[in-house]
Amino acid sequence: MLKAAADPGYARWEDQIRRTGGCSDPIHITGWTVAKDKTSGETLHRYSTENEPGARLRIACGNRRASCCPSCAWTYAGDTYHLIRAGLAGDDRRDIPATVREHPRVFATLTAPSFGPVHNRPAGRPCRCGKHHQEDAVELGTALDPETYDYAGSVLFNNHAGQLWQRFTTRLRREIAACAGLTQRELKEVVRISYGKVAEFQKRGAIHFHVVIRIDGPAGALTPPPLWASTELLDHSIRAAAAHSYTSATVPAAADQPARTFRWGTQLDIRPIKAFNEGSDITEQAVASYVAKYATKAAETTGASDTAVHCRQCRGTGLSSRYSHSGGPLSRCARCHGTGLGEDLARMSVSEHARRLMGACAALQPLYPDRPLTRWAHMLGFRGHFSTKSRQYSTTLGDLRQTRADYRAAQEREARGLGDVEPGTVLVLASWQYAGHGHSPGESVLAATIARDIRLNRQTAREALAELTTVQEAGL
Ligand SMILES: [Zn+2]
Ligand SMILES: [Zn+2]
Ligand SMILES: [Zn+2]
Repeated sequence: MLKAAADPGYARWEDQIRRTGGCSDPIHITGWTVAKDKTSGETLHRYSTENEPGARLRIACGNRRASCCPSCAWTYAGDTYHLIRAGLAGDDRRDIPATVREHPRVFATLTAPSFGPVHNRPAGRPCRCGKHHQEDAVELGTALDPETYDYAGSVLFNNHAGQLWQRFTTRLRREIAACAGLTQRELKEVVRISYGKVAEFQKRGAIHFHVVIRIDGPAGALTPPPLWASTELLDHSIRAAAAHSYTSATVPAAADQPARTFRWGTQLDIRPIKAFNEGSDITEQAVASYVAKYATKAAETTGASDTAVHCRQCRGTGLSSRYSHSGGPLSRCARCHGTGLGEDLARMSVSEHARRLMGACAALQPLYPDRPLTRWAHMLGFRGHFSTKSRQYSTTLGDLRQTRADYRAAQEREARGLGDVEPGTVLVLASWQYAGHGHSPGESVLAATIARDIRLNRQTAREALAELTTVQEAGL
């Protein structure tokens, strides 16, 4: 740490890390860029990483997961918050009118079914094992009886969660049409269903979805929904769609595995979203914060591994990628000897519950060769995106990132004395190469300090802004 701090390039290094937001695993690049005037050919600006510390420029890794990079995850959470909130309260900079607030919308939680009893903390009662577990007890969410717990069912459910969601949305449109007395085609002409969703792992390792569901007019957020579209109708339709037999995913029997039909769990929670807290309803801010919080978490909250555990050679299939000349079945992958695993699960420092779930993925893989299970073992079989939204819901993460990049580019141009130059008259030549990633151990400590600093500053700014917005919304 002292060596890093005493380096003559330290100030510039610190500046680079500040710009990455205190990224804990920055990408290193080397290269140069030259800006020339298109007509005169005059060089307006020249930059090369030659004079940077270690002759490298460090840029943010952009990882969404807090366990991988707390700083980039923080940025991601902030973007997700704005994305969800824009879809709830509107955002005039992004063409989402404030009238979306009048559209019927709810915050729904679709859970996974039971795969066997787990240790829990029921209100006012002891757990089934007889103990009163502490809030942070390691047993929570793990099987009461590991011998009978359906680990295979749990990972297969996670693996099919995306399909179940697709079926649910299809059925939801049908239910809404039925409620309104319209055909599917007629419904399309007057209504669009928009949603923003985030996946979360429950302690037991089963995935569940938190979703904002909104009824818009035919052109999305910009158009008002028809008068018959109410929060009650939406609530009723969601319940009907979740319970309908169409909303299911089937898995055929294979070897010792029974045929399975997955449905959502019976714990369906639907709450109307209000601009302000009124009784049991939840507010726009609460929903957006909640979703943002879960967007940066993955399976590690259940004690699983935070990196992939499959064999890179065969991508977890356990099979050689070459076709056999005899036309027979593919041969076993030489690197993992057919296990599909790149890590020894028995030696990994993960919880026993997570180990069993990851082991179930690998054991099921040969039975369901078409489903990527071992490839997603570290996600306990879930292979979907953590946060997704329909096109019409609100702005996009890409759009939010672009806004930030534009702002930085404008700042850069200003700093280089190019602020007044018309962008169309400048020719930019550049060449960049990847040169590695990460920090030295000493740099790590310093980067973590910078990250804490930045977070504290941003937190203060966010809180001040939130207070200001509340005051404005209340018309004070
Ligand atoms: Zn990062
Ligand atoms: Zn218990
Ligand atoms: Zn392999």
